[in-house]
Amino acid sequence: MFCAEPFFGASNKSYPPRTRSIREGSLRGFLLQSLRVSIQFQIDIARGAGRTGRLTTPHGVVETPVFMPVGTLASVKAVSQDLLEDLGVGILLGNTYHLYLRPGVETVRALGGLHGFMSWDRVILTDSGGFQVFSLNELRKITEDGVTFRSHLDGSSHVFTPESAIEAQIGLGADIIMAFDECTEFPAERERVRASMELTLRWAERSKKYFEEHKQDVPWGRSRPSSVARRHKRPVSSLEFPVPDSNGSPGNSKPETRNLIGQSQSLFGIVQGGMDLDLRKESAERTIEIGFSGYAIGGLSVGEPREVTREIVEATLRHLPADKPRYLMGVGTPEEIAMYAALGVDMMDCVLPTRAARHGLLFTSAGKISIKQARYANDAGPLDPACSCRVCGRYSRAYLRHLYAANEVLAQVLNTIHNLSFYLDTMRRVRHSIRLGEGTGFLSGVSSQPKP
Ligand SMILES: [Zn+2]
Repeated sequence: MFCAEPFFGASNKSYPPRTRSIREGSLRGFLLQSLRVSIQFQIDIARGAGRTGRLTTPHGVVETPVFMPVGTLASVKAVSQDLLEDLGVGILLGNTYHLYLRPGVETVRALGGLHGFMSWDRVILTDSGGFQVFSLNELRKITEDGVTFRSHLDGSSHVFTPESAIEAQIGLGADIIMAFDECTEFPAERERVRASMELTLRWAERSKKYFEEHKQDVPWGRSRPSSVARRHKRPVSSLEFPVPDSNGSPGNSKPETRNLIGQSQSLFGIVQGGMDLDLRKESAERTIEIGFSGYAIGGLSVGEPREVTREIVEATLRHLPADKPRYLMGVGTPEEIAMYAALGVDMMDCVLPTRAARHGLLFTSAGKISIKQARYANDAGPLDPACSCRVCGRYSRAYLRHLYAANEVLAQVLNTIHNLSFYLDTMRRVRHSIRLGEGTGFLSGVSSQPKP
């Protein structure tokens, strides 16, 4: 489906045939072996189940636990990259399914991967496309080989296999990429959940095999100028990146020089097993046997009750290695991300803060506000007096309500900036509380219940 750019291009022509084959093989093998370990996870403080740490990737260091805003189409909707940097976003998420359909993997690859294409020098994670394809329902067909699906854009037919999903993610060039998995539907019979889990395990092995054989093809792992480097007027191999300060905000300390040459992406495995505790344990153990740089808990937030989600997360975390990053996919509200961080989750992503913002639903320290309500029409106060974001520091509730009622584009921008700030601040407070050993004290005051 994708035509990966061959690693050895026209320069091979200078070798005599016999010598060339030996040199190609040995050089390729040498380069594969010489790729540096491209992710490091260091736990700084562990208190109870929660822990703070530092995730070091080719494009920077991220303080954990971390919330990752979702940038589905190489864009966090309504907020530009420089604003995301100002907010302290150190890592964001891109969706392989959407980027594969539009603008296409080869377009992104040719422009330096996602980092170059969207001019984002910090860390990126891409999903494998499995969850998006799963959510297409009637438009997909699953076989041992992979998933045939129809584009939601034009109805055209496509196939994702573990190999092509990894190939796409190598082309997109995120720092962290995900194994291709099947997200089991809810509810499902136990035998169906087991069969789905077994399929995900076979796909995990195929994902890893393809990744190990092709990881040198990442767009930024070689010495060549890219569009982002030209725009930044410095070589892409020596971009500067900020180191997070003690609050986890990148950009406030002296930049370090980054060297991307010879660095590869990191592949995470995904634990499935539906809502069955035994199958979750088995899935975790067998995924760990395959061996990944980090482990995600997938297949949740698919319609199950919230208390079931928590039970599954808590049980699954017990079976994941303590020294590897743990990523809970697609969760959740402000109090949920605080709760799961306290349980020992290191990474989370969710469209909730950005999607809710575009519908006028704003998270505040007093609960969730619907800014469209008439009671805010003459309210001169800030959206959230306890929030230090640039929106709450400048604009009134009356103005934000007017923008939303008038369908002004600025409403989406300002609402999204506030909601993202609220989520990022929540995670900063979580990290601070873990460091101070305050247990789950920080959970008080974090609420997504409607403001009375
Ligand atoms: Zn605010």
